[in-house]
Amino acid sequence: MSKLITKIILTVLMIPISNSLGALLGYLFSTNTIYFRPQNNSTWIIMLGKYIFVVAYWVLLWRTSIRWTARRVRLTMVIFTAILLIGALGFWVFRAFPIQAVRFAAYTLDQMIPITWLLATTLIWRETDVERIDRLSQSGTDVISCPTCGYSMNGLETARCPECGAQFTIDALVKAQHRHEQEELSQA
Ligand SMILES: [Zn+2]
Repeated sequence: MSKLITKIILTVLMIPISNSLGALLGYLFSTNTIYFRPQNNSTWIIMLGKYIFVVAYWVLLWRTSIRWTARRVRLTMVIFTAILLIGALGFWVFRAFPIQAVRFAAYTLDQMIPITWLLATTLIWRETDVERIDRLSQSGTDVISCPTCGYSMNGLETARCPECGAQFTIDALVKAQHRHEQEELSQA
């Protein structure tokens, strides 16, 4: 199993694990088995515990695959702060209005917060096209090499290999670079 496959499986398992953790925290900190009880002070521990777990799990899982520019760090902190504030606000409303509709809304919000974190950070952490080209050129492998002889064709302005003389169309040259796609996948 490659590292990337492991990461993807761990990603898929994150929400079920965090829900199990929520249930476990509920068991440990509640005096009864009802998860969302407005009169129960432990509810915020369960919610906060789950959010912190999801944030830490997600950052630890992908930290080495992210290019931590100042902008990404800043946006990540903004999203982290925002979900905590929204969670705190939701919890306050939930405590202040202990009716069924609010309870259901709070439950939905509690489910939405980790998903929002995942969606927002996925978009923030996604590499730009320029970063991708930069990463591939620094990875030690040629971005484009001759499909016939393997000679590096970086920097050429025509699709003719200077080493073996083979002539390609640009699209044929790109399609022939499959092994780089594989190398790229294993680095992701
Ligand atoms: Zn060649």
